[in-house]
This record gives sequence, C-alpha cells and structure tokens, in this order.
Amino acid sequence: MKQIAIASGKGGTGKTSLTASFASLSDAILADCDVDAPNLHLILKPQIKEKIIYEGMEVAKINEKCIKCGKCEEACRFEAIENFEVIEEKCEGCGVCWLVCPANAIEMEKRVSGYIYTGNTRFGYFVYGLLMPGEEASGKLISQVRKKAEEMAKKNDKALIMIDAPPGIGCPVIASIGNTDLVVIVTEPTMAAIHDMKRVLGVAEHFRIRAVVVINKYNINEEMARKIEEFCSKEGIKVIGKIPFNKKFVEAMIKGKSIVEYDKEIADIIKEIWEKIEEMIK
Ligand code: SF4
Ligand code: SF4
Repeated sequence: MKQIAIASGKGGTGKTSLTASFASLSDAILADCDVDAPNLHLILKPQIKEKIIYEGMEVAKINEKCIKCGKCEEACRFEAIENFEVIEEKCEGCGVCWLVCPANAIEMEKRVSGYIYTGNTRFGYFVYGLLMPGEEASGKLISQVRKKAEEMAKKNDKALIMIDAPPGIGCPVIASIGNTDLVVIVTEPTMAAIHDMKRVLGVAEHFRIRAVVVINKYNINEEMARKIEEFCSKEGIKVIGKIPFNKKFVEAMIKGKSIVEYDKEIADIIKEIWEKIEEMIK
C-alpha cells in the first residue's frame, strides 16, 4: 500500500481543491488530516457511516472523598483547580493533583476531544478527524485518522491512501506526512508561500520522504514562479506542474465541486500532474 500526502506549509494555496481533484482521478482512500479545520468534506460531501469518539487527554475530577486540604490547587501549575473544583478547560491531564492528593479524592477521566468520521463519497472512501476547539494533541488524532485509513484500505483492497495534510510545519504536519511515499507540496508565487514551502521541504528531507512541488496560480507573479523553479532545480526537487490562476477554483469550491469536475482546461493540466504522481509512486 502506498501513501501520498498533499501539503502546503501555508493555508490558501489551493491544496484542498487540488487534493479533491486528485481524488477524482484516483482510486484512493482519502484522509483529511487537517483536524483543526477539515474542509475536504465540503467538496467530497461524504455519506457518513461512522462517527468514532476520539479521547485525547485525560481530565481530573474531584470526588466526595475530598477533605479540602488544598494540596491539589497548590500543586497544579496550570491553575486548573479553584475552590476544590477542576476547571476542565484549563486541565492538561498531567495527573500531578492525583499524585499529591492525600485522600484519594481525584480520578483521572477520559474526555471527548474530537471525532473521527468515515463515509463514502463520489470519489471513494473517506475518513477525517475533527478536534474540539481548544483541544491539544492533534498529532494523536491524526495518527488515529491515518490508522483508520489504513484499515479501510486493507478492508476494501485499495492500494493507495491520499492524505490532505494540515498547513504549517509542526507536529500535525509531521504526523500527516511521516512514513508516506511522496509529499506533494502545493505552493504559490508569494514570499510567504515560498518561505513555508521551504520549511515543509526541510521537514520532508529530515524524515527522508520524497517531495515534489506544484506551483499554483503561477501567473500571478511569473518572476517569483521562476525563482521557485530555480530553487527546486538547485535542490534536486521536481516541479511537476504549474497551474494558472483561475477564478473557477473559487467557483468550484462554492459549488462543492473539485476543479476537475468544473473546468475542462484546468482539468487537463491537473490530469497531467496526477499522471506524473502515479508514475512516481509506481
Ligand atoms: S491533572 Fe494536572 S492540570 Fe489537571 S487539575 Fe490536575 S494538576 Fe492541574
Ligand atoms: S488534594 Fe485531594 S483532598 Fe486535598 S483538596 Fe485536593 S482533592 Fe481535596
């Protein structure tokens, strides 16, 4: 089984739109790992089959055995205990209060930190995670989304998993692109996007994952697009496609379609890019 991740370093480069387009051209299990703000489902419109509770961090609970000694409040460095009650939103689940409590009055409980959804779409099976606002540990949820995608691939005899990675370069991105066979980095010719593209390339290189680049909206600054190509050529990184700016990307998004379903001219460009990707992961 092969896995590819579509990453961008920065939001707004057209990554999700491109992922949906690749999805329409492939026979992959699709996994949206942008668990803080998933949006691939807005285009794929899955028929949800399963909603699985994700339990992230634990939370402390004070029970009736409490003798009101105040040791837990003193020990909690997150200031999550006040008047012998735990403020759930502040509790980091470290368990220090449980350790210091002389009355065995603290229990550590699992809490719902998010959900994993699975379903069918017009392009195949789909899984995505959604982290509750303010919750940490997105890397753990991403790992579970990827595990679910692998199970679905095995069960349905699919040879490819396509991952929509979150923007940025932190732990969620590492959790999304780690152990994949190829990372496709979608960038655009702006200083911020190039800077972030280089950072994702650094992460991919660090984890020895093959990376290629797609320049979206290349014609909004052709000089800058050329600089991206020069940089990639110097670093031995393939630029596998350049897509012109087109308002139809936004129109397609609004209508809940992939651009491949919406515009023939851009569809042809994206098909060529996809063929190169297929060739590379053979
Ligand atoms: S588990 Fe940690 S963060 Fe939560 S209340 Fe106890 S000491 Fe504070
Ligand atoms: S340490 Fe235990 S007994 Fe003391 S106030 Fe906290 S919960 Fe109550």
